[in-house]
Amino acid sequence: MSEANIIDGKAFAAGLRERVGKAVTRLKADHGLTPGLAVVLVGENPASEVYVRNKARQTAEAGMQSFEHKLSLETTQAELLALVDKLNKDPAVHGILVQLPLPDQIAEQAVIDALDPAKDVDGFHVINVGRLSTGTTGANAPMVPCTPLGCIMLLKDRLGNLSGLNAVVIGRSNIVGKPMAQLLIKESCTVTIAHSRTRDLPAVARGADILIAAVGRPQMIKADWIKPGAAVIDVGINRVAGEGGKSRIVGDVDTAGAKAVAGAITPVPGGVGPMTIACLLANTVTAACRQAGIEPPDL
Ligand code: NDP
Repeated sequence: MSEANIIDGKAFAAGLRERVGKAVTRLKADHGLTPGLAVVLVGENPASEVYVRNKARQTAEAGMQSFEHKLSLETTQAELLALVDKLNKDPAVHGILVQLPLPDQIAEQAVIDALDPAKDVDGFHVINVGRLSTGTTGANAPMVPCTPLGCIMLLKDRLGNLSGLNAVVIGRSNIVGKPMAQLLIKESCTVTIAHSRTRDLPAVARGADILIAAVGRPQMIKADWIKPGAAVIDVGINRVAGEGGKSRIVGDVDTAGAKAVAGAITPVPGGVGPMTIACLLANTVTAACRQAGIEPPDL
């Protein structure tokens, strides 16, 4: 058994951020357009604060405008909707990201529904979900959710043409599993979506040329679930107890065992994670171009 190729998401994401930066420089020079991303954080969730800080820093590093809105934990739904309305109307803001989860008094769906679909860089608005599932292209192409977009970029970079391959997606969330399946269908894969009610999941997984794990259960997927030579994309981010009382992050796949069987595999950390923010920046450039009537760059 040979050790699988590790898919270096960190390096690929750095390259994507560089391409985004160059595209921003050209947009400024050729069109006087500076893409702007507004990130809204409600409350003081430490994990969310780290994400928001990283998003703001990387947005600025790519030469874009970053607008941060930190609201108190007591913010009402009406107050948040008023801010979304203001951002929808602000011509300097091309992308809006409301960091989830939101406090209990605010209905997430109401906030997502209030976003201008053209500025919905997370791709969660029903208009974007619908456009992704109908395969709409051109000026009305959807904003695609960042994590699955990052996964498909890594797969295409590694495998080239995905047409005809068997893909199994474990997880059916609106954020990862379902849009991931849509993107794989678009690439002409034969797609199975598995979840907590799937019978004999290891056997289902063993049929996969492409196995996507988006479950949220530490190292659930073992080496003997993987077809030899398969490409394995591990979306999971799970915090587990590490040495010396410290915690560490692991994925949904038992990477140490799986890498001896898989043809290619993303590590955790350093695989899918860095792609998510890089794709958010790419989506912001795409959104800015579409709003300005400019053909978006091929990133
Ligand atoms: P959700 O909790 O929304 O969805 C998890 C899915 O896994 C559900 O469809 C659930 O099935 C399924 N599932 C749970 N247990 C099992 C099981 N034992 N066997 C089979 N299927 C199971 O999670 P998300 O989709 O939001 O996230 C998934 C993982 O990806 C998490 O670890 C999350 O932290 C990570 N993540 C990483 C990102 C990144 O940037 N790298 C971004 C977003 C998420 P059912 O529907 O039947 O309940």
